[in-house]
Amino acid sequence: MDKQYSDLLNTTKDYAEEYIKYIPDKPVFPTHKDLQMLQDLKQPLPKHGTDAEAVIKLLHTCGLHGTTAQTGGRYFGFVNGGLLPVAHAAAWLIDTWNQNSALYAMSPAVSVLEQMCESWIVDLLGLKNGTAMGLVTGSANAMICALAAARNELLKRQGYNLAQKGLRGAPPVQVVMGAGAHSTVTSALSVLGIGSDEITRVPTDAYGRIIADCVPPLDCHTLFILQAGNVNGGGYDPIDELCDRANAAGAWVHIDGAFGLWAAASCQYRHLVKGLEKADSYSLDAHKTLNAGYDCGIVLCRDREALTGALAASGSYIPYSENRDGMRYTTEMSRRARAVALWAVLKNLGADGVQELVNNLCGNAEYFADRLKSAGFCVVNPVFFNQFMVKCDTNEQTKKLLQNIQNSGVCWCGGSEYAGDFVIRVSVCSHATTREDIEKSVAAFCRARGDIV
Ligand SMILES: *Cc1c(COP(=O)(O)O)cnc(C)c1O
Repeated sequence: MDKQYSDLLNTTKDYAEEYIKYIPDKPVFPTHKDLQMLQDLKQPLPKHGTDAEAVIKLLHTCGLHGTTAQTGGRYFGFVNGGLLPVAHAAAWLIDTWNQNSALYAMSPAVSVLEQMCESWIVDLLGLKNGTAMGLVTGSANAMICALAAARNELLKRQGYNLAQKGLRGAPPVQVVMGAGAHSTVTSALSVLGIGSDEITRVPTDAYGRIIADCVPPLDCHTLFILQAGNVNGGGYDPIDELCDRANAAGAWVHIDGAFGLWAAASCQYRHLVKGLEKADSYSLDAHKTLNAGYDCGIVLCRDREALTGALAASGSYIPYSENRDGMRYTTEMSRRARAVALWAVLKNLGADGVQELVNNLCGNAEYFADRLKSAGFCVVNPVFFNQFMVKCDTNEQTKKLLQNIQNSGVCWCGGSEYAGDFVIRVSVCSHATTREDIEKSVAAFCRARGDIV
């Protein structure tokens, strides 16, 4: 190894340590001045190169000031997950190896690790033996893979071969989903040639859960999309009851459980997803609740052939093997070796550790909500899993409160619309969050309220 390369990696490691040490004091969102500095990046493509040490130094400065403190304990925005140390370290190895995880022939090691992830995840979530898994960028893509399998299979049962005949002359597929389905569900359907007119949206309760009595008759043309964890209300669709109904009708059930399906890994929260093994396919994220680092979405499908059949790619130069060829389970070919970090996290935590992680996130969310309530804030919903919403008397006050919180730099939450109101969303999604972080954040909420009410 030449010295320059070695020095570069050592410097980068020092930068990484500097970043991690700075996190507790770093404004959780970049300050106005930090954002101004990012303007310096807007330059034309340089004609001449810059040496790697200097490039990495520039990036380090950019990251130190221009990133959000996502890996710290006080980032509560969206449902963005934290990063476990083992996932971080595994990602360094992934980058060192630079494997293409499309085929066994490209990386036997990654293929075996991915195969182990499949059986471990199926076991951890309590799904049917033989369920297939694919690793993709995130739930949005996982949904495209799973819903493609669903669409093709539902058409196949009607004697229609979509891969051969195309969608134009295909019999209709009826899509049924909750009014609170995530926006990526509709975008996945749209990519798959299913338009909004073909979707029946079932009314939901105050927490975003499908009201079972409002579900229309299902049949063997129905693609029924359920949700395990609504991003606003936090509610879980009544999976057990609805799966029974769908199975009796011969419908296909997909569960979008991006962050909430991990409830299955905890004795304390598993009741939320009771009956999940009766569904046909699932999408979830390892970069959210599991804290395995970006990017890692997971698609699961009980019928292995339905998934690989829908996503089949072939070419004279693609040697599928007896072993696991990861690309067969996704829309992608060349892929980052996501399995490496996922495997490392599962091996590091074990089933008990995953359960403890889930319980901690949810326990912290509950504690946070209780502390805010004690401080006189209005918490809108019960804490089902790892998140809740806060609002003031008027939308204007809530907006101002959120702005003050975001400007404080102490913690960061996002906003949303809920039941016609503007609300602040708090999602506890990092293993790094401590009770002290929560106390500091509650204090920031209280200070932010100062000049409003
Ligand atoms: C985050 C999320 C998605 C999208 O997942 P990505 O990983 O961002 O692609 C879909 N559904 C739900 C419920 C989510 O929370």
